[in-house]
Amino acid sequence: MLQTSHFERKYNQITLNKQDDHVPSQLNIFSLFAIIMPMMSRSDIAREIVLVCQRLAQKGFVTATDGNVSARLPNGNILTTPTALNKGRVTESDLVEAKADGSAVTLSRKPSTELGMHLFIYGERPEVNAVVHAHPPYATGFATARISLTECVFPEVIVSLGAIPLAPYATPSTNEVAESLAPFVGAADAILLTNHGVVAYGNDPEDAYFKLEKVEHAAHIIFVARLLGGEHRLTADQVQQLRSLSQATYGKDPSGKTACDPEIPPGASEGDLKELIRAILAEQMKSSSPARSDQQHSVHRGT
Ligand SMILES: [Zn+2]
Repeated sequence: MLQTSHFERKYNQITLNKQDDHVPSQLNIFSLFAIIMPMMSRSDIAREIVLVCQRLAQKGFVTATDGNVSARLPNGNILTTPTALNKGRVTESDLVEAKADGSAVTLSRKPSTELGMHLFIYGERPEVNAVVHAHPPYATGFATARISLTECVFPEVIVSLGAIPLAPYATPSTNEVAESLAPFVGAADAILLTNHGVVAYGNDPEDAYFKLEKVEHAAHIIFVARLLGGEHRLTADQVQQLRSLSQATYGKDPSGKTACDPEIPPGASEGDLKELIRAILAEQMKSSSPARSDQQHSVHRGT
């Protein structure tokens, strides 16, 4: 299990002025990102969180009081849905502001019990500005059957998300959830949570929601394909063509994402294939490294 001290160490590095929403008290990596990225105001962010909550409820991705949504504010604090409230009923005034160490700034309601998972993701991925967690039925069905979505099947998913890994089971609302994400969070923008649901994250609440929606859509289609005899994966060559096209057309560098598993040609072993993919990615990383920092913002943006 992650020790509390780990979180304290990680989040004690963040010192921001909580008195003023717009003026960081000292320059750190979060305030640097806030300067570089197009800034949404607090009210824009709150409005978008509410819209995402409504979509989660309308789509049936959550029931009762399930799910949680959060976003990073211009002051470095996190604005999150409160605990124990149906997502279809969330209003902007229900949202809770919390500091990066998890302590609440807004005292009228308690933050989501999964706030620790959200904070862990923000800590590990400084460019991420929003996190959405829900229990969409098809993707959660795969997570409950303990089947990851790592096969190369859909071009859109391959170029925007790469492989969608399955994190091991962790007791919801505990630090175990963050620990279960640790091996995957750096190279995935959406993760299945075993026997639980899905978490996705991105540049803003809508971007994070779209990623979660894309995961659910992929899971639904694969489910249907399996009823019809099973999906067919794209080959390594087809995947490489997609990645090259994505990079040339959209400037997206896919090398930071975990590669999906392509179709295995007759006679080749899975080990051979993984070696080939690793070589392709290493080659891509070499050729794209000078522009990588400039493209950081677009790398994790969905199409
Ligand atoms: Zn949950």
